[in-house]
Amino acid sequence: MIELKNLSKTYVSPDEEINALQDVSIRVESGQVYGIVGYSGAGKSTLVRCINYLEKPDAGSITIDGIGSITVKNGVSFYRAEGSETEVKLTERHLKALRKNLGMIFQHFNLLDRSTVYDNIAYPLKYTGRDRESIRKRVLELLELVDLTDKVNAYPSELSGGQKQRVAIARALASNPRILLSDEATSALDPDATESILKLLKDLNRKLNLTIVLITHEMAVVKSICDRVAVMENGRVVEEGNVYDVFSNPQQAITRKFVGTSSGLGKINELIKQDLDMVSSDDTLIKCVFAEQNVDEPLVSDVSRRFDVNMNIYLGSVEILQGKALGGLVLKVEGEPENRQAAIDYLRQHKVRVEVIEHG
Ligand code: ADP
Repeated sequence: MIELKNLSKTYVSPDEEINALQDVSIRVESGQVYGIVGYSGAGKSTLVRCINYLEKPDAGSITIDGIGSITVKNGVSFYRAEGSETEVKLTERHLKALRKNLGMIFQHFNLLDRSTVYDNIAYPLKYTGRDRESIRKRVLELLELVDLTDKVNAYPSELSGGQKQRVAIARALASNPRILLSDEATSALDPDATESILKLLKDLNRKLNLTIVLITHEMAVVKSICDRVAVMENGRVVEEGNVYDVFSNPQQAITRKFVGTSSGLGKINELIKQDLDMVSSDDTLIKCVFAEQNVDEPLVSDVSRRFDVNMNIYLGSVEILQGKALGGLVLKVEGEPENRQAAIDYLRQHKVRVEVIEHG
């Protein structure tokens, strides 16, 4: 478990103050894949870097179960080992012990270009007092884990982006951490490599019970592997929840925007732009989201018969999120105004989330 409580961080420069984190609290359970999304500048990197204390918060606390907690009071950092009553001033020794349990991967891999794959992975192990043979054994084990055994003697320049990220993952896991922090790890990769790295992360999460905190600007990444998600805007967490709940019923405007871009239904805005006469005075264009409780009900034909309206399907999508179906349709409803409204009310009564895009 990782618990971040009331974290704040302000960057002060001669001409401005940036509130990168404003009273942020989140809790990540052990074994979870936890996504943090937001646009550039929202505070995601700052937040994730506070977890391993690469960034020192101005206030708040970071607790990692099995290890201890760091609390910042009046700018001074204190450490309390788990189970201990006493709080002491934080030292490098405490940080070393904390970071041993936290691996981190980055968008641009951060590999040593002049070292082979073997040496890149062996590097963090060299300072742990292990002998050569035990390092060799561990490196080969890690290479097998990330499915890159055949590249042991290659240099980073000879690898694809996806392979470089595999090396970085192996290196991050060298000291057997229980937590992996991922800072936009797939943002520099093509779609195929992205998919394979996400699959690897999910496999490692299951196989090693590895807790993963990942930051991304792509909802598709969240959809693919996260259990929970926090949405950040202007240094705050504005929405947080189980991935299915957030995708099926986003509460904040920014979350709706993120969810919309990833579902394919957002393409309706392009269609509207291209076809200005798409909706006539007898039509209403609506977006419907059918969550698990109504995804298999014949609601569209039912509504059509009941209220004497035509339902014309423009766009549709069904996705499986966390093993549950989430369906979406963009429909043009044609008919008398009162019938169209009655149809929309009926859908809403049946727990379909209806958004009116355009009224004719
Ligand atoms: P994100 O990861 O969501 O893009 P960041 O955490 O990197 O956001 O940045 C949050 C805000 O803090 C941004 O406005 C950024 O410019 C600012 N910021 C981040 N790091 C620094 C720094 N070292 N010095 C000054 N400002 C910073």
